Amino acid sequence: MSSKTQQVYLTISIDTECDHDANWVRSKPLTFHSITEGVPNRLQKAFDSIGAVPTYLLTVEVLEDAQSVEALSNLQGNFELGTHLHPAFIEPHKKFHDYAGVDSPDFQCGYAEDIEYQKLANLSTLFEDCFGYRPTSFRAGRYGANATSLNNLQKLGYKVDSSVTPHMRWTSPNAVVDFRQAPGQPYFPAENEIVRPGEFVQGRILEAPVTIMPRKLRRTPIWFRPWFASVEQMKQIFRYHLNTHADQEVININMMFHSMEVIEEASPYPQTAAEVQRFLDDMLTGLDWCKSEGVEFCGLSELYDKFRQVA
Ligand SMILES: [Zn+2]
Repeated sequence: MSSKTQQVYLTISIDTECDHDANWVRSKPLTFHSITEGVPNRLQKAFDSIGAVPTYLLTVEVLEDAQSVEALSNLQGNFELGTHLHPAFIEPHKKFHDYAGVDSPDFQCGYAEDIEYQKLANLSTLFEDCFGYRPTSFRAGRYGANATSLNNLQKLGYKVDSSVTPHMRWTSPNAVVDFRQAPGQPYFPAENEIVRPGEFVQGRILEAPVTIMPRKLRRTPIWFRPWFASVEQMKQIFRYHLNTHADQEVININMMFHSMEVIEEASPYPQTAAEVQRFLDDMLTGLDWCKSEGVEFCGLSELYDKFRQVA
């Protein structure tokens, strides 16, 4: 089979949050080791060593924490900053003022359209107040985005959303999102749709789904993600996408995880220093292999122009 693919762009989109515990509850007292230690000393250092370009998607509590903002402002290297919304933590209808020990199951798309818009607007303003420019890439907390969410993001000047997780369906107390029919590669969604691709129209947001591979004999698909996939499995997922989408000139492989996964006991995943090291080793080995296959690393927002050119 001949492939039309000319370039594979590899993005690493990282939900960047306060430390959590093994049950995904926010740490108590609230700590930010994943930002002050994880991002500069573990993640960015690793990415810089092979020329990879991460996109850190920042939550409300990170943008409200002076030390975290300082660490991110002083960060050296090649990276992008965007935003990530857990909607219970920002006005209007803000549910929590002390975040320590709190869980946030709500989906942003479960709120009324104008409330969701205001929450996104406030998050974007908070980001701009910290860094002096508007964010252009985004992921919804718990992947809880729908067609309205995309319209709201677009109004706020976002270029790329990465909330869609193909082959998955998620439920929360306030909404359900169903991405089982979503395309595996970036697309410009049709009007008032999230999983159905449409024609490119000026100003339309690009949806860059998280890279996931279905498995024939297993109910659960496998994610292109350290800890969830071994290095061998990352290679399989990469090859699966190149084979399945061989008719496309441009392909994206989009690794996702959380900043907290590189701090022991700050997520349900690595619990010891040795496990964190294994996470980082697998991440780097997987990415370096992709580099040897000829990928180009880029920030999430850069995908917009790459895919607009072939749309
Ligand atoms: Zn999150």
